[in-house]
Amino acid sequence: MTSLAPRAREGLVRTVVVIEDEQPIAHAVAARLRSEGYEVEIAADGPSGVALCDRVRPDLVVLDLMLPGLDGLEVCRHIQRDRAVPVLMLTARDGESDLLVGLAVGADDYMTKPFSMRELIARVHALLRRAERSADGPAKPVVRIGGVELDATTRRVRIDGDLVHLTPIEFDLVHYLAGRPGRVSTREELLAQVWGYDVPSGARTVDSHIRTIRRKLGSSIVRTVHGVGYAIEEAQPCT
Ligand code: CA
Repeated sequence: MTSLAPRAREGLVRTVVVIEDEQPIAHAVAARLRSEGYEVEIAADGPSGVALCDRVRPDLVVLDLMLPGLDGLEVCRHIQRDRAVPVLMLTARDGESDLLVGLAVGADDYMTKPFSMRELIARVHALLRRAERSADGPAKPVVRIGGVELDATTRRVRIDGDLVHLTPIEFDLVHYLAGRPGRVSTREELLAQVWGYDVPSGARTVDSHIRTIRRKLGSSIVRTVHGVGYAIEEAQPCT
């Protein structure tokens, strides 16, 4: 059973771009997304995928990692250059390196082939709900963690004044932890609150995002509480 696509009830149609060179997969994914009420466009290689995203400005991109022309990592960099569009990456192998590299360039989630359409739809819904929740949310304060400043209104992050690029999910993860200074959040809580769902591979997904956040913002920004979860110790709202 799947829930209604986010905003379907409000009559707003969301657009998803599927960039995948394996036609049967691309068409199956597109057909399932259309049956859920999404507008879907397909591209079969990297360069045409980038061009398609420039043209239709999708609400979400389902992106195959291994593509002719430009691979999924390059495509991800291009389409997120000027705008934080959620990306669900499809990988052929369950390799840790694929996972880490994919997440480091800005994919918000990934799935290993073969995957179930039901799971794909659940993740698409969750990514869109999260993106829309952050876009619709009331203006929230700027939060400072040491030299790092998070502005939840513009979703910009600065270290000592210099802009740093975080993916949408990295931003939400830091912002969630910073909103509860000193409190330890379990991986399950983070999956439920930040991603919006729980999956068997979930703990690994949280860990790899935390690693990327530490690489971008400094290793001391998030504390690991072994066997429990993660915490940000000191965070001050600033006006
Ligand atoms: Ca492929």
